Amino acid sequence: MKRIVFMTFTVLALTSCCNAPKDEAPWIVDRFDDIKVIRYEVPEFEHLPLNEKVLIYYLAEAAKCGWDILYDQNFEYNLAVRRTLETVYTNYAGDRTTAEWLALEKYLKKVWFANGIHHHYSNDKFVPEFSEGYLLDVIETIPEDKFGELNTLREEVCKAIFDPNLYKTKLNQRAGDDLLLTSSSNYYKNVSQAEAESFYAGMAAADAGNPCPISYGLNSQLVKDDSGIHERVWKVGGMYSAALEKIIYWLEKAEAVAAEPQKTNIAALISYYKTGDLKEFDRYNIGWVKDTVSNVDFINGFIEDYGDVLGRKAAWEANVNFMDKAACHRTEVISDNAQWFEDHSPINPAYRKPEVKGVSAKVITVAMLGGDCFPATPIGINLPNADWIRKEHGSKSVTIDNITYAYDKAAQGNGFSEEFVLRAEDRERMKKYGKLADDLHTDLHECLGHGSGQLAQGVKGGELRSYGSTLEEARADLFGLYYLGDEKMVELGLIPSLDVAKAGYAKYLMNGMMTQLARVELGKNVEESHMRNRKLISEWCYERGKADNVIELVKENGKTYVVVNDFDKLRALFGELLYEVQRIKSEGDYEAGKALVEQYAVKVDPVLHKEVLDRYAALGIEPYGGFVNPEYELVEQDGKVVDVKISYPANYVEQMLHYAKNYSFLPNRN
Ligand code: ZN
Repeated sequence: MKRIVFMTFTVLALTSCCNAPKDEAPWIVDRFDDIKVIRYEVPEFEHLPLNEKVLIYYLAEAAKCGWDILYDQNFEYNLAVRRTLETVYTNYAGDRTTAEWLALEKYLKKVWFANGIHHHYSNDKFVPEFSEGYLLDVIETIPEDKFGELNTLREEVCKAIFDPNLYKTKLNQRAGDDLLLTSSSNYYKNVSQAEAESFYAGMAAADAGNPCPISYGLNSQLVKDDSGIHERVWKVGGMYSAALEKIIYWLEKAEAVAAEPQKTNIAALISYYKTGDLKEFDRYNIGWVKDTVSNVDFINGFIEDYGDVLGRKAAWEANVNFMDKAACHRTEVISDNAQWFEDHSPINPAYRKPEVKGVSAKVITVAMLGGDCFPATPIGINLPNADWIRKEHGSKSVTIDNITYAYDKAAQGNGFSEEFVLRAEDRERMKKYGKLADDLHTDLHECLGHGSGQLAQGVKGGELRSYGSTLEEARADLFGLYYLGDEKMVELGLIPSLDVAKAGYAKYLMNGMMTQLARVELGKNVEESHMRNRKLISEWCYERGKADNVIELVKENGKTYVVVNDFDKLRALFGELLYEVQRIKSEGDYEAGKALVEQYAVKVDPVLHKEVLDRYAALGIEPYGGFVNPEYELVEQDGKVVDVKISYPANYVEQMLHYAKNYSFLPNRN
């Protein structure tokens, strides 16, 4: 997986952290439709050395300069729509309290959030709740010259917003359709799916046998015109030149203050933007993946191809970050003790690995988000994407702690905890230790869980077939759950007390048995393998612990609650199940694996399911979240930069209008 996307309807909701910031301004800065906009903080920025702060400043400017690109990639009239509405928004002197005006404002907020007129997640075109007549009336009241060249695009803009039969989806994946002609993203122009496929098949055939193939088509629009089918490359002097030139301006400043090997990597990226040569992009990626020493790191480029139905063209994105040293220390401690954990794992000793190596996952703090990472952003990244580079040079995998922290803070006080957690003691423990428990459990799962254990002689892996991924996730989760409650965690200084495990266990069971069902449509079974794994573990422990009342389903006032009565026995059950799941994997016991999954992980009790959905709906929690960026300012003295100041704007609309004024460089049509 290249990108770890934040699950909507999360239960990451309840928690807090020991190093909470002093600033307790509201975390949610705006909410509209199905969206909440959150601010994130950049802890430790103030304590970075000056050269790193300045480097972040330059890279952050470069990240903002590509703002327009994704709009145009998403749909050819997005920039014209956005700018028309921005001009209206900043100049309209009439009544700004009417229902139609508020609907227009909401529509513009949604366009900013989705980088266009299609929903960022469902890809469907937004339905405006104001009329074309209203928009035209409002435009009439504003001097014509305010719109400049936009005046010539009025008809296209109105069609894009109001015609329900045009541009219905950004990304059509319905089998049987011509996926290009029915998708309104702007990666292909007048080209049918068959034409595009044969164009790139030809390119790949001409390069057959090359062990280091470039990512054909990654950085261009494919067009058919009088001169035939050809690529318009995104580079200086090509498509998107005006934005790329500004990005390069700031990258060159960054290059000047960066240290090796980063300096050389930035130079490679600049060369790639100037030439459009994808070999240069590969050179940059290899340098980037090998650079594990630079404290400040960044992504700036055409990276992920999810927005192209053919999975070839990449959306522009940017992310500037630096290492979260405290969190990295946590994964290092776990990794350094990998052998101890393996030797004490509650599984058949024959299936323990004699020699185990932990993986140390990097945790980062994000300082700026741009393009396809803004305002909605992934919480983890694994790059680069080219298979041969991954195979030969590896990949970098990071999780973004200050973003998950902000999500957590934003979810506090949303009523979730009061609604679903029965006992006050559990609520308090979750509030205090929930995030730490989540983080540690994830670390144990990722750094040790998946890598632990070994197969019996003659077993190749793959025997569990379609049940394999659910059982593998269960194995890693159980490893994490079992050790989360081990005294060793206190001894290693990773947790202050086993209360952290109690918080984690209560939360896990509640989620696995109940609250995760909020993400499943009524009448459907659980399909996704991580969700199946959580259900499997929770339901199995519930049934096995029934005689001792380890876990109880309590009914109060017609509501169901999951309550853990005996944390020690629950931990022992995690150990028992780990023993069995490891046996199933090691022996390739397909029938036993299938029985476990089918009995505990799939089928949903429709009555409980409906109850969860109703209780969730009553809370009115927005399913999607995104962010406003912090702002940075150079502090100069006698012509020299002496510091970089960070501030946290709390107004989504102001930030968007600020970007529109200062970071919008592309023409209306490209
Ligand atoms: Zn996993």
